[in-house]
Amino acid sequence: MSTTPPARLAKPAKAPQPVTLLTVEGKEQLSPGMVRIRFSGDLAAFAGTDWTDRYMKFIFGDPALLAQGERPTMRTYSVIAPDVAAGTLSVDFVVHGDEGVAGPWATAAQPGDTINVRGPNGAYTPDPSADWHLFAGDEAAIPAIRQSLAALPAGAQGYAVLQVEGPSYQQEVAVPEGVALTWLHRSDPAHPGLADAVRALPWREGRVHAFVHGEAQAVMHEIRPYLFTERAVPRADVSISGYWRQGRTEESFREWKAALARAEEAQA
Ligand SMILES: Cc1cc2nc3c(=O)[nH]c(=O)nc-3n(C[C@H](O)[C@H](O)[C@H](O)COP(=O)(O)OP(=O)(O)OC[C@H]3O[C@@H](n4cnc5c(N)ncnc54)[C@H](O)[C@@H]3O)c2cc1C
Repeated sequence: MSTTPPARLAKPAKAPQPVTLLTVEGKEQLSPGMVRIRFSGDLAAFAGTDWTDRYMKFIFGDPALLAQGERPTMRTYSVIAPDVAAGTLSVDFVVHGDEGVAGPWATAAQPGDTINVRGPNGAYTPDPSADWHLFAGDEAAIPAIRQSLAALPAGAQGYAVLQVEGPSYQQEVAVPEGVALTWLHRSDPAHPGLADAVRALPWREGRVHAFVHGEAQAVMHEIRPYLFTERAVPRADVSISGYWRQGRTEESFREWKAALARAEEAQA
């Protein structure tokens, strides 16, 4: 009997993602910790994409490296209100000090500056047939959560839990009448963290559709086991991931994610 292992099927090569050149048109301070930049460009690549968590990669470096199979420095951001006909979109950047690439770039950006982006991609749109919705996240996820809330059908029920630094960091977020919005302030010792606040929500009857993103430790190690293990929510009904990791750049955060995936695969 042959002991030759079955030949592994080669993974189909991924189609190269489109790269779009964007020009900064204007800037608006949304809160002390967040700046909105309006961009223009030829948004053909965004046509027909309607995920409410649509995101793209800002390329800090030569985009030609991508064609050579190399990876320039890239940072991931949610896309706000792309208008393909008008050729406009916005991005809300967390301003988190001098560290990093994208945050400081956004702080310094001026009208006329240009930058390449790759994408878009996305995976989530709120399911109108869900009995209720759960949104939880920090500043980095507010743009995607805001757009998802705006896409809910009238009469939608649920919770949105948003964590920011303090009261002056809260932003305009419209919620349907049936969705209870809670703001959490990191600077207030009386406020729970994101995971404790999610745990404290009265669990509702029926099928939940959840969107939970933000700092990776809170999201992946604290909220994810609560939803999947304690509440037995089916994986298909949850969009959950770390959007950033305290103390790690996006590159070393990718290593953190890969290590977590390997550890979980080994346990499975
Ligand atoms: C799908 C997706 C969508 C995202 N959408 C948005 C968005 O719309 N707006 C947005 O601001 N971010 C968003 N993020 C998060 C963003 O990609 C990261 O915050 C990224 O690390 C920022 O890059 P940087 O160059 O500024 O900092 P990096 O070079 O990656 O990191 C430098 C330092 O800054 C810290 N840092 C990074 N991000 C934050 C933060 N948010 N708060 C505090 N400290 C931080 C890091 O821990 C590190 O110590 C999204 C991420 C994903 C995966």
